[in-house]
Amino acid sequence: MSEAYQPKLDLVVIGNGMAGLRVLEDLLEMAPERYRITVFGAEPHASYNRIMLSPVLAGDKAFAEIQTRDRDWYDDNGITLYTGEAVETIDRRRRMVISDTGREVGYDRLVLATGSRPFIIPVPGHDLDGVISFRAIGDVNAMVDASENGGRAVVIGGGLLGLEAAYGLHQRGMQVTIVHLNNQLMERQLDAQAAALLQHSLAQRGLSFRMEAETAAITGDADGRVTGLRFKDADDSTLDADLVVMAVGIRPNIALAESAGLHCDKGIVVNDTMQTFDPRIYAVGECVEHRKAVYGLVAPLWDQARVCANHLAWRGHSHYDGSVTATQLKVTGIDMYSAGDFAADADTETLTYADIRRGVYKRIVLRDDRITGVVLYGDTRDGGWYFKHLQAGTDMSACRDLLVFGKAFVEAGNDATDEDASDQEAA
Ligand SMILES: Cc1cc2nc3c(=O)[nH]c(=O)nc-3n(C[C@H](O)[C@H](O)[C@H](O)COP(=O)(O)OP(=O)(O)OC[C@H]3O[C@@H](n4cnc5c(N)ncnc54)[C@H](O)[C@@H]3O)c2cc1C
Repeated sequence: MSEAYQPKLDLVVIGNGMAGLRVLEDLLEMAPERYRITVFGAEPHASYNRIMLSPVLAGDKAFAEIQTRDRDWYDDNGITLYTGEAVETIDRRRRMVISDTGREVGYDRLVLATGSRPFIIPVPGHDLDGVISFRAIGDVNAMVDASENGGRAVVIGGGLLGLEAAYGLHQRGMQVTIVHLNNQLMERQLDAQAAALLQHSLAQRGLSFRMEAETAAITGDADGRVTGLRFKDADDSTLDADLVVMAVGIRPNIALAESAGLHCDKGIVVNDTMQTFDPRIYAVGECVEHRKAVYGLVAPLWDQARVCANHLAWRGHSHYDGSVTATQLKVTGIDMYSAGDFAADADTETLTYADIRRGVYKRIVLRDDRITGVVLYGDTRDGGWYFKHLQAGTDMSACRDLLVFGKAFVEAGNDATDEDASDQEAA
């Protein structure tokens, strides 16, 4: 049967975040007529770029600037969009989803793109008024409101999200302390040297730190409003706070999938075509576990969404093989880039360049002459170039000596080598 005679199928997408939207965009490009599409999003807005919540918190962007597709886009593409409406049940036998308003919609194919939820440390006081996380525009609005009268904020967590929250609140006029369990910031993305430079730069901007500090309890007043933290240390020391932001990690949103009997572990387990245990049901984004890996950055989601859309469009098989990720901190004036695995072992070789007075530090980790990890601080211009070679698995032995100085030196070196070679040939 030719494509023109295919009857339309019903596609339902649960979750209108970055991954869900990207599947729609890719699918409309590949097979605009194949499905009647319905989308459920628990948040009240059509769609926005979650990454850019940090600049919104810092006051560098307005929410309107980070909205991606408006309602007209959904209408124009014939997509039925329900916002502020969460799906509560997937009835796989009837192939039906049921939302929290009782709405029932049938599907032939279903995409789960339910993202993650922030992990809340279950210490006493975690549910006090004024304790929030940093995930959605609602959280940003709550932080902006709380910062209106200045005051003291504590951010628990010295990872990417915690530091961006801290910076934003500082820009909004709050006195901010970052409380971190580890003795270095962003320990999963940075080595000790780069983390020290980062902490120094943030301290110079006016942020305070309590490192190697574990929260025992969040304290509150008689009205149930947060007043501070108590630490797990010998003195039971405390820190005053008018606002506490928890940024200690995320957990894939798997409850809905689990309740539908889909195989889940850390995330919703999918195969290389992004199908779950039930082949009619796909999953993409942060809610997914693929080959034991779960991701918390957007780049993998683009690849996953493409593969998912490709399969939905019956374009034959393309496969998702997993992703290597790169991270950049969105704090104005701080340049930091990290990609791949920068841990050294007996089989790796580490190249470093440090100009501490200028605040520049670079570390390139090689295994069998191929880049496996990069940490750049202070000068991140070549981040993308290193990453490209990391992903391609390029043999860098020919330019190893110049590698740490970056692309321009390597290319100039190669030109010089080429010239030498042609001189010799001419001779
Ligand atoms: C402040 C911040 C800064 C970030 N910065 C970066 C960065 O610099 N670089 C980077 O790569 N990544 C960054 N990230 C991570 C990035 O935003 C995520 O990787 C990405 O948004 C994940 O997309 P997703 O679609 O899987 O999940 P989400 O974007 O969270 O979307 C999931 C959506 O599903 C909805 N949903 C859940 N359950 C249901 C249900 N039952 N029914 C209906 N709807 C439901 C949720 O409400 C949500 O809207 C940042 C994240 C945050 C919070």
